[in-house]
Amino acid sequence: MGASSHTIINTPAAEPVPSLVGLLPERLEATLGEAGIPERQRRMRARQLWNWLYVRGATSFDEMTSISKDLRLELTGQFSISRPEIVDTQISQDGTRKWLLKLSPGVEVETVFIPDAERGTLCISSQVGCTLNCTFCHTGTQPLVRNLTAAEIVGQILVARDELEEWPAPGGGAPTRQITNVVMMGMGEPLYNFDNVRDALLLAADGEGISLGKRRVTLSTSGVVPMIKRAGDEIGCMLAISLHAVRDELRNELVPLNKKYPVAELLEACRNYPSVSNAKRITFEYVMLKGINDSASDAKELVRLISGIPAKINLIPFNPWPGSPYECSDWDQIEAFGEIVNRAGYASPIRTPRGRDISAACGQLKSESKKIRASELRRQQAASEG
Ligand code: SAH
Ligand code: SF4
Repeated sequence: MGASSHTIINTPAAEPVPSLVGLLPERLEATLGEAGIPERQRRMRARQLWNWLYVRGATSFDEMTSISKDLRLELTGQFSISRPEIVDTQISQDGTRKWLLKLSPGVEVETVFIPDAERGTLCISSQVGCTLNCTFCHTGTQPLVRNLTAAEIVGQILVARDELEEWPAPGGGAPTRQITNVVMMGMGEPLYNFDNVRDALLLAADGEGISLGKRRVTLSTSGVVPMIKRAGDEIGCMLAISLHAVRDELRNELVPLNKKYPVAELLEACRNYPSVSNAKRITFEYVMLKGINDSASDAKELVRLISGIPAKINLIPFNPWPGSPYECSDWDQIEAFGEIVNRAGYASPIRTPRGRDISAACGQLKSESKKIRASELRRQQAASEG
């Protein structure tokens, strides 16, 4: 592909057949056009495909019986609709499930499903690894391997639906859905992979497909200020901000991106988030680190900072990982912190750690994938062929 030997591969190493998954309706139609489908048929064919992929969960063109055999054959030759491959499944004592998914040779990512009394949350990833090095986060210790494509982001939802048996049986009604919410809170910084994340989340919300609705889709960012407005304008989903500290000095240390986009700018972007209203509160995530960010004075400063923003504060007990440099705050301390925030009129739920026994809790995700150079990949391929 003309890559010099110094180019770092930042797209799938080999994508022999283009995927139809993850294309929004207009792109899907255009792609069918490029494949020679006559113009007068494109819209209808795109609608049929959309329904097979996202309502019925088809995994092959063969199943798409409302499409003629000839066309099915033609599509099979030109496109893929395959899912990421499950390499490993772990199920926690508390019912949380974690899947390790293979996206392309040597590239793996984690997806987590968290069932709860009244909802089921699927936590999906946007990147393999992360370029940001938040000091409390395990993913942050894995250098960025690459961005996920929209197909791979949507693919995580499709795989989870396969595994949870959520597709309607042929001729039957739809089973009860376990996945009620999708949160972009897995590996990576979603606003550093904006276009793919946007397309995937719009697709997940779409009422004629996966049908979650925009209020059940949440994007979490560590604070890429210039992209927050675009997220509001172009996706319009719920927003979560990984705040974690209320003073620049400490936040610079915990979330180094703060040096670029300090607290005041971040909160200004939140105030201007297009869909902020009482109905659509912003969630602030605050990891509780013992003796670091958990004092009463931190809580008071937090309340002062967010005043005027319709907000909810998620207090996240720190989840340890091998070699992590912090301890989780004591329970009393977390409760006292929450009490101050709550008395100021903000909901401040303490997030119950889920799936800790399988390293599926917030900030524990990491895969073994490493970034490899094009030259190294060619060497490996040559070696395996020879
Ligand atoms: N990169 C985005 C999306 C990941 S969301 C972001 O940072 O927002 C994952 C959430 O878990 C973030 O709020 C993150 O700050 C938090 N987190 C990371 N490591 C954690 C840990 N060890 N314990 C608890 N929460 C953690
Ligand atoms: Fe990346 Fe988010 Fe982890 Fe920070 S907390 S290193 S932005 S995944």
